[in-house]
Amino acid sequence: MIIGLTGKNGSGKGEVANFLKERGFHYYSLSDAIREEAKKRGVEISRDTLIALGNELREKEGPGCLAERIFAKLDPEKHYVIDSIRHPSEVRVFRRRPNFTFLCVRAPERLRFERLRQRGRENDPGVWEDFQAIEAKEAKSENRTDQQLDQALMLADIQVDNNGPLKELHDKVKQILVKLAQSQPRPGWDEYFMNIAKVAALRSNCMKRKVAAVIVKDKRIISTGYNGTPRGITNCNEGGCPRCLSIETSGKDLGECLCSHGEENAIVQAAYHGVALKGATLYTTFSPCLMCTKMIINAGISEVVYQATYPLSDISFKLLQQAGVTIRQLAA
Ligand SMILES: [Zn+2]
Ligand SMILES: [Zn+2]
Repeated sequence: MIIGLTGKNGSGKGEVANFLKERGFHYYSLSDAIREEAKKRGVEISRDTLIALGNELREKEGPGCLAERIFAKLDPEKHYVIDSIRHPSEVRVFRRRPNFTFLCVRAPERLRFERLRQRGRENDPGVWEDFQAIEAKEAKSENRTDQQLDQALMLADIQVDNNGPLKELHDKVKQILVKLAQSQPRPGWDEYFMNIAKVAALRSNCMKRKVAAVIVKDKRIISTGYNGTPRGITNCNEGGCPRCLSIETSGKDLGECLCSHGEENAIVQAAYHGVALKGATLYTTFSPCLMCTKMIINAGISEVVYQATYPLSDISFKLLQQAGVTIRQLAA
């Protein structure tokens, strides 16, 4: 889950960020990306220098560049809270993740000013006129790469009004977390099994293509296989298969290849453990060759789901159809 935070000064974004941090969210702020750059350049850090440097970076590298720097650090398995999103392009960068939610924290102007005064942080405005001047500067700019807080705020998925006690804010964020947890996107079955097959393909030791298959019954994986030389034989990428080692054109001398195919290995692994494949579905990263097709049919597999199309597979498709095996291709 990724929660992006936006809001005007003194709205309480920091409180929301702290609340999430205490609940296991990893914290990043886009202004940290500017701070890192300021340190690198030896620039003194103040609100004005940070805004100027942020604007300069957006001008040079594009309006989403600060977000890109943070986006590159995100691990899909972790929860994040990302503070100080101040430009529509930054929002668009994080929207590439389906589990991103953009949250805007709001509070009335006077209240925000009072909070800043009480906070008394260096560089915070002490008088109302200064506060208003900063607000105006941050809200919008003629230059499209400068921060455009007003436009960013309009893109928020959820608005949180923070004009009461802290406990009230915490309760609101709790409710949001529960709702988000209940609606988090997750891969469908096809995507899930195909992604597992793709990871299995990374184990392939073949110098040519890397292919893998997983065989599934009742939505459970009962066998997996990736291509490479047979058990006990030198790995293909260590010189075990003279045909692969010769780097011949694709499709040539296939009969001399020592590498087993991913689908073949998945079927053989089931045999090794004495597992029946009748009625199972085979997910494969490449559509099967003729040899594997014959094995699929005779193993009793009833469905083949594939991602990429193997160039020599016309006859395989015909054979599978004739044998009554369902074939489906997943969009890449
Ligand atoms: Zn090989
Ligand atoms: Zn094959």
